[in-house]
Amino acid sequence: MSKPYDPTNVFARILRGEIPNKTVLETDHTLAFHDISAQAPVHVLVIPKGAYIDFADFAAHASPEELVDFHRAAASVCDMLGLTGPEGFRAITNAGLHGMQEVPHYHLHILGGRVLGRLVERP
Ligand code: AMP
Repeated sequence: MSKPYDPTNVFARILRGEIPNKTVLETDHTLAFHDISAQAPVHVLVIPKGAYIDFADFAAHASPEELVDFHRAAASVCDMLGLTGPEGFRAITNAGLHGMQEVPHYHLHILGGRVLGRLVERP
């Protein structure tokens, strides 16, 4: 059974305007902003405005409007930041303990601007 959404998480606080962020794009249902600890020349987080814990929660429970808005916004971010050329980018999302998710509000990391290495390190 999944845990309930924690409204004190840092991204919920950003959405309430309690913490500043460097916004890249805001739409009706989605906010995209620069990661505070960038792991690549481009590192943007795309989050739904709704209270969803992780990818599975969002994919299962968001409305069609939220789902479309989120993915179109993510695509716009890639375009705005020059990532849609042949060099490409990586879009990843972490969930739970094994995924080492730090912030329990669904977010897509969009990374680019350098070769990013293998997706998963061997332990
Ligand atoms: P994850 O480990 O997938 O949950 O990623 C959480 C991400 O949120 C990390 O890359 C952090 O650097 C980033 N982060 C944490 N706090 C903030 C903040 N206030 N503004 C922007 N990014 C943040």
